[in-house]
Amino acid sequence: MPSKAVFLDRDGVINADRGYVGVLDDFTFLPGVKEALALMRARGYLLILCTNQSGIARGRYLMSDFERTTAWMQQDLALHGAAFDAVYACPHHPQAQVEAYRCRCRCRKPLPGMFERAIAGFALDPRECAAAGDRARDLEGAAACGVRTLALVGAQPGEAEKAPQACVFPDLLSFAKTL
Ligand SMILES: [Mg+2]
Ligand SMILES: [Zn+2]
Repeated sequence: MPSKAVFLDRDGVINADRGYVGVLDDFTFLPGVKEALALMRARGYLLILCTNQSGIARGRYLMSDFERTTAWMQQDLALHGAAFDAVYACPHHPQAQVEAYRCRCRCRKPLPGMFERAIAGFALDPRECAAAGDRARDLEGAAACGVRTLALVGAQPGEAEKAPQACVFPDLLSFAKTL
C-alpha cells in the first residue's frame, strides 16, 4: 500500500462546477481528468477525494443523491483504472437549513478534518502527498497537515493570490504530468 496520496477537490477539478452539483444530470467530467487520475495512480499515489457538499446541509439535494452520483462516478473512473481509493465528503454547514447537518464541524474545508482522517486511515506521509483544488480553501487544510505539493487547477480569478504557496495549472492533467 503506497504511503502517498493526492487529495483532490471535486467540483471544478473533477467535474464542471455548475454550483451545487447533486444529481447525475448535473455531473460532467472535465477534459483529461480520467487520464490525469490514471497517471497519478501509475506514479504511485493513492487518489483521495475531499469535497465540501454543503448542498446537503442547505437542502439542495440529499445525501443519497450524493452517494448515487459518487457510485456512478466511481464506476466510470474504474473503467479507466482511475477510481478514487477513498471519498471524504463534508455535508455540514453552520447555518444549515437541514438541522441534522447544522454544526461547526472540523471537516468543512478550509479546516483539515478530511485530510487528517485520510492521513491517519491510510498511514500517509503528508510530506510525500499532494493536494489539488480550484480554490485556496481546498489547499489550506492539506498544508496545515504538512502537505507540501499544492496545486491550484482551473482556478477561479483571485484564488492564486490567496494561495501564494501553490503552483497554478490550467487543468488536472497538466498538474499530474509534473508528479
Ligand atoms: Mg471546487
Ligand atoms: Zn463537516
